[in-house]
Amino acid sequence: MSQEPDVTAIDEQPRKVKTNLLGLSASRIGDFLESLGEKRFRGTQVLKWIHQLGVDDITQMTNLSKGLRESLAEVAEVLLPEVVSCQDSVDGTRKWLIRVDGGSCIEMVYIPERDRGTLCVSSQIGCALDCSFCATGKQGFARDLTTAEIIGQLWIAAKSFDQFDPKTPRRVTNVVMMGMGEPLMNFDNVVDAMSLMMDDNAYGLSKRRVTLSTAGVVPELDKLGDVSDVSLAISLHAPNDELRNQLVPINRKYPLADFIASARRYLDKMPDNRRKVTVEYTLMDRVNDRDEHAKELSALLRDLPCKINLIPFNPFPGSEYKKVTKVALTRFRDILHNDGYTVTVRTTRGDDIAAACGQLAGEVNDRTKRQQRYKKRLEEEQVVKFVG
Ligand code: SAH
Repeated sequence: MSQEPDVTAIDEQPRKVKTNLLGLSASRIGDFLESLGEKRFRGTQVLKWIHQLGVDDITQMTNLSKGLRESLAEVAEVLLPEVVSCQDSVDGTRKWLIRVDGGSCIEMVYIPERDRGTLCVSSQIGCALDCSFCATGKQGFARDLTTAEIIGQLWIAAKSFDQFDPKTPRRVTNVVMMGMGEPLMNFDNVVDAMSLMMDDNAYGLSKRRVTLSTAGVVPELDKLGDVSDVSLAISLHAPNDELRNQLVPINRKYPLADFIASARRYLDKMPDNRRKVTVEYTLMDRVNDRDEHAKELSALLRDLPCKINLIPFNPFPGSEYKKVTKVALTRFRDILHNDGYTVTVRTTRGDDIAAACGQLAGEVNDRTKRQQRYKKRLEEEQVVKFVG
């Protein structure tokens, strides 16, 4: 037998996985540095480099000693998700397609308004909840995003607006966890990422400017109030269980009364008793937009301190619903308004680049069969159109 040197041996050694500092909240970065025999406060310095100055190269963190930078770079790195593309809408909305480990892509959207700029951040690749009117659900589900992949979205937006330069005015003033995914199904990573958003040594956003939106994972919502005080938005979309079961399947597990009681408990945990929940209600033509629905909703919310945000349904390829008419939207709004509610209508933004609510689809390496079924249905519809 020939005795050739084994040239593959080096490649076969498992690559040492470095800790990604991007995803470590203040307490975790402190723990990590302590585990290396360093002082915890070095963690604050590292946080500032990454999240306030936008530095992703450990060797450039010059207030750390050269020795520490070298030893840190051996075991850690700052690894950002990759931006695949960035599109601008005619209305100023910007959408990024971002590739994450495993090849899937997520979408992130920035919505500028007169007095603020809101970044809509994804929490999962796809979504397992399968709400009947949401494009993300049709893509199926791949996995949770890591904390680094969630906070990395804000880092990417900040970089693209040159916000790490202290002379540049802040463009991202608000973050909403309303991109792809159900944030409460990825509890720990979302909570850590939100704590970085609000950390004064990182992005320093106030709790009122960070919003978590949920379709109603009640046990997790109850946990959230114990560890976080971000603003809460609840996706109702229907005023009774019968209709909501069809639109938001998780309602079968956690019905409306439980969901609303849990939102109420969340508010009760906040020291500031003036806080309100935002109720999201996507209006679909002749599905949930009738006067009776508005009246039922009004009665349902009577005991919940809230404001109501009406979202005209945004269609996407293959969606089975239609956008609410102007007349129905106005009537719905007026009924609630006359009952004393604060009602806002979410204007559709960025729909020319498919960046509006519920249009974020990304590229999901689906682990369910849902994407396959959706694609098949789209193809069949094309054939029908062609033949017809
Ligand atoms: N999983 C979270 C975040 C979803 S996106 C949640 O359910 O709250 C944010 C909001 O957009 C939700 O209220 C969602 O129901 C709504 N939405 C989803 N698809 C939509 C569509 N096609 N048109 C309008 N709103 C939509």
